[in-house]
Amino acid sequence: MSGKNPPRAIEVQPLSGFNQALTYSVPAKFSGQLLPGCLVAIPLGPRRTMGIVSSLKPADTLPAGKLKPISALVRREPVLSPDLLELARWMSGYYACSLEPVLEGMIPASVRGGANEKSIRMIGIPADGIPSDAFDALSRSPRQKELLDYLSKQGKPVPLNDTLKYLGIGEGAAKGLMAKGLAEESRRTVRRVAYADDLGEPASEAESELVLTDEQAKSSAEIKQSIRAGLFETRLLHGVTGSGKTEVYFEAMEEALSLGGSVLFLVPEVALAPQTVSRLRHRFGKQSEQVVVWHSHLSAGERLDAWSSITRGEARIVVGARSAVFAPVPNLRLVVVDEEHEPAYKQEDTPRYHGRDVAVYRAMLNRAVCVLGSATPSLETLHNVERGKYSSSSLTRRIDGRELPLIHLIDMRRESLRQKTPPILSTQLVEAMRQRYTDREQSILFLNRRGFNTTMLCPECGHVEQCKDCSIAMTFHRTDGYLRCHLCSYRKPAPKSCPSCQSFDIRRKGHGTQRIEDIVSDLLPRKATVMRIDADMMTKKNLFREILRDFRLGKIDVLVGTQMIAKGLDFPNVTLVGVIDADLPLRMEDFRASERAFQLLVQVGGRAGRGDRAGEVYVQTYAPHEPSIQYSRKADLRGFAEEEMAMRKEFGYPPYRHLVRHLFRGRSNEKVDFYVDQWRKVLDTKPIPNAEVKGPAPAPLEKIKGYYRHHLLYFTNSVRPFLSELEKRRSGFPLDKEVQDVLDVDCQQLS
Ligand code: ADP
Ligand code: ZN
Ligand code: ZN
Repeated sequence: MSGKNPPRAIEVQPLSGFNQALTYSVPAKFSGQLLPGCLVAIPLGPRRTMGIVSSLKPADTLPAGKLKPISALVRREPVLSPDLLELARWMSGYYACSLEPVLEGMIPASVRGGANEKSIRMIGIPADGIPSDAFDALSRSPRQKELLDYLSKQGKPVPLNDTLKYLGIGEGAAKGLMAKGLAEESRRTVRRVAYADDLGEPASEAESELVLTDEQAKSSAEIKQSIRAGLFETRLLHGVTGSGKTEVYFEAMEEALSLGGSVLFLVPEVALAPQTVSRLRHRFGKQSEQVVVWHSHLSAGERLDAWSSITRGEARIVVGARSAVFAPVPNLRLVVVDEEHEPAYKQEDTPRYHGRDVAVYRAMLNRAVCVLGSATPSLETLHNVERGKYSSSSLTRRIDGRELPLIHLIDMRRESLRQKTPPILSTQLVEAMRQRYTDREQSILFLNRRGFNTTMLCPECGHVEQCKDCSIAMTFHRTDGYLRCHLCSYRKPAPKSCPSCQSFDIRRKGHGTQRIEDIVSDLLPRKATVMRIDADMMTKKNLFREILRDFRLGKIDVLVGTQMIAKGLDFPNVTLVGVIDADLPLRMEDFRASERAFQLLVQVGGRAGRGDRAGEVYVQTYAPHEPSIQYSRKADLRGFAEEEMAMRKEFGYPPYRHLVRHLFRGRSNEKVDFYVDQWRKVLDTKPIPNAEVKGPAPAPLEKIKGYYRHHLLYFTNSVRPFLSELEKRRSGFPLDKEVQDVLDVDCQQLS
């Protein structure tokens, strides 16, 4: 790399304080050592900060004399590989954010801070042994003799400090031995491995010696062939729930590893990582180092060590949530994105990237294969398959021909008529749970993670007030009693009675996991154990794991949780799944509502009847006629996608166009409102070609933590040209200091 003319100037991207690459000179002592991706310390104004070498410049292109020199090279090895550097540049452009936060997300804080792996001092006798008269020569140093005696019996280096303490000998004795050449000091790095106690369990006893089904064999052959070809490809693996997708991933991974490559395995939730890790360790050897876990809940030490073993190429399988897409594996051959449809892959903070899409891009940079797996692929991915950008493989049958569970729709409108207060659990569902308890079988109850509870629903006929122009549910605003559309800002007074059936009962509703847990505990016999899992528990990873373990062991009869437990978990003794509020997504102010409802129901259905006994699913709904609910009964993806795509096409929604959300926020509602209006006027006078603008309108969550939020939505065919046109107008727009604006490209959550 250093060549004949080692560069005397480099471009450095500071990691804080400045969002632009700066040019520095390279003092002679570092010349020839610097590579793109190296971490360096640089002077920046009066401060000293860290930066990443983004490119080397030939010496003759620059007036090197005027440049400031870098202060230090923090690590000899680059902290970013060329592909990650390239990926960072692309992300910064595509997601309209500065490079700084992107790089920060790629390099663990401890590495940025210059920390190294933890190592301890070891002592042992020299490799070529000690002279036979060594002990005699030590007759006047009994302590040294004792230590040498101990060391020579060990046969391998031992930790220095612990040994001295154990023998009750001072450090002088060790120094004495080393001075005489009778002992040597060495260092050993101590690895902090996350989930090292997961010794690797198969998901089922059969997994160890299973034979691939024909469909599994066909799909894995297709993927393996692409991996061997060494060409970039994105392939959808559409497999119904319980069809054995994991086995196909594993086959593909084996292929990538056998070619000397590395693998990234992305899962939507951190909570699913341990389960996946233990299946992986079972399959790819008990050596826990080869498989590492990568996610935001790792301790700084665990993270640093994982990072180091990845960069050294020791850990060749990295499992984790979205940020694992940045794991610095060398020679990437395969990226698996499991449950690719999950909104959790989208980061809701800057940089607002979509983990799946970044995975595809990273695979492209490495000429690797990216496998997107799901039982309910996103419409974006289906669209890409349709137009030939992605290829696809499918698993259409459950393993052993097990049936998809029966899905019973419970019409909550009828239930409403029967009970005085709005029903939360229907009598049918309660009866079914009691029966399971008597039969010593387990149940899972799902409710939606998030409901804004601000849409209006008629409990008698299921009517939801929608915007006539946008086909989304309107939101009720307590402040003025109006309903508003969050796309186009159309508003009207909230009706006093249901426009469809004239019932006066029209109202808003919602309830949390805690409430359901209490109700279920009251309804079941005293001895029944009911437990709840919700988002707050994700941070306490041990608690979460304990609950899942107890559930697996049958110590818990009913598990109540949000859809996060719908994903990827496999419990053979669960024969009943209840969905408390199936159509809550339908009442949300989002054009993806039907898609989310469909996905949820199909995924949830997949949790029942995974063992030998058939499963049943009870779905409580106010909208049994809704297409998303009807199609989900038979897991009919094709039928659903056809109908839903037609709607998306008509309105020009994704996947037919990209959606960019432009959020304005500030403490003063008047100011935010004013600026967002002014901005709209700018766009009206100088329209952006090939883009449609909707809004401004108050965001569905109009106020968060004292900040008022208004947004505009842009629909465009092509993101990059659109952003550059937008930026031209934005750079000349005088925004008040107290109002911030944020762009969210390929926005997933309209909250
Ligand atoms: P999916 O991810 O498609 O929902 P999984 O990969 O979790 O399905 O597989 C479901 C179950 O089927 C697991 O218990 C797995 O061990 C088992 N399984 C997968 N493939 C086979 C096979 N070829 N023969 C027998 N059992 C299998
Ligand atoms: Zn509207
Ligand atoms: Zn009604």
